[in-house]
Amino acid sequence: MTHKTNLLIVGGGIIGTAIAEYMSKRGLKVTLLEKNALGQGCTKASAGYIFLQTKKPGIHLELAKNSISMFENYPDSVKNRIGYRSGGGLLLIENEEQLSIMTKVVSQLKNQGVSVEIINQNKLKTIQPSIKDKAIAATYCTNDRYINPLSYLAYLKEEAEYSGVDLREGVTVYNFISEGEYISAVETDHGKFIADYIIITAGYESKRLAGLIGIRIPLKPLKGQFSEYITNGSIISIPTLESRYLANKFGYNVSLDSIDPDVLFLGCSLGIVQQDNMVYISTTREICDTDLVVQPTAKATKVMLENAKKFFSLDNITWFITRAGIRPISSDGLPIISKTRIHNLLLATGHGGDGISLAPMTAVVICELLENKLESSLEKSLSVNRFE
Ligand SMILES: Cc1cc2nc3c(=O)[nH]c(=O)nc-3n(C[C@H](O)[C@H](O)[C@H](O)COP(=O)(O)OP(=O)(O)OC[C@H]3O[C@@H](n4cnc5c(N)ncnc54)[C@H](O)[C@@H]3O)c2cc1C
Repeated sequence: MTHKTNLLIVGGGIIGTAIAEYMSKRGLKVTLLEKNALGQGCTKASAGYIFLQTKKPGIHLELAKNSISMFENYPDSVKNRIGYRSGGGLLLIENEEQLSIMTKVVSQLKNQGVSVEIINQNKLKTIQPSIKDKAIAATYCTNDRYINPLSYLAYLKEEAEYSGVDLREGVTVYNFISEGEYISAVETDHGKFIADYIIITAGYESKRLAGLIGIRIPLKPLKGQFSEYITNGSIISIPTLESRYLANKFGYNVSLDSIDPDVLFLGCSLGIVQQDNMVYISTTREICDTDLVVQPTAKATKVMLENAKKFFSLDNITWFITRAGIRPISSDGLPIISKTRIHNLLLATGHGGDGISLAPMTAVVICELLENKLESSLEKSLSVNRFE
């Protein structure tokens, strides 16, 4: 049987679902195909940091700012439902070298209008009372936000279905039939689909799918893990990360001599946040070119917890689960939200460690691409052609 639709979305992670919700509300007939259950790719493993101070000045930061504005515009009932927190965020600094680097990072971010400052240990203790002396200072950004990613996904799913999206789980796309520079049909294990437009939003698997029709996407897989713990205490008052990871992202070389080899090997850096009686501890950044088995490991669970214990007393928590996912990272760190040489095919992938924060704006960019309204310099910067 052949199904017809306006917009066919391949992949039901946070990116595909956000686009489905947004475009169906613009009046399009949207079908979303997900081979497993919604959100069971990278999205299920994500923490929900929607931080500005972790974004590189330029397009990355602007996309994140605009996404935060969209979250801010949700009514309180939605904000409560998705666990939206607007109390800012911290990046911990543990030595003079990091302090010097973060002073430069803060200056760059301030120049871009981000409300961020370095705070000393005393002030840090007033904001995050349970912190140990290992943190000598921190950066504090009042623009930073946090959500519960799976609650956000569930909200988008409900809204998408309410506005008429034909959301099909357990349907695998395995081929595209093209006629010249046009896809005439999409083959799945549940029949053929014909669409005016097709968007590949299959996370890291977008690389293989786009490759089927000769489109090369320079994506790399970066495995990440995070653990959930149960507590009956109040331990973490504000979402907190470690600045070591960010310094690398901004292109500064941080001395690694004193770092535990396991922490280094797993690319582990602290992320910690508490919501009600759950404490979430992240994360690893594991290069996994040849191993796409997305299983959490006991080793990473242990290393992430030990790393967190350097900064916080965590005796009062009980392990609940560790999740793992493959972040789709593009070679320049920016997402690929793009038309392609195939006239009716678009891509929305490559969000790396920022897919939750950038999901709302990704949907807007896709919409503007479809309506030929996207500002041309932004279109170029996000285009898959930039890698040619
Ligand atoms: C440990 C960890 C922590 C993170 N923390 C944060 C954070 O704090 N903030 C943030 O912004 N981001 C964070 N991220 C990044 C974020 O999770 C990703 O950027 C985001 O989930 C990518 O979403 P996606 O929809 O592109 O991909 P995915 O979630 O992987 O979704 C792709 C979907 O496509 C489906 N699919 C694949 N092939 C096919 C096919 N042939 N047919 C049909 N369906 C198919 C898959 O089953 C999958 O469900 C984190 C990631 C990890 C791993």
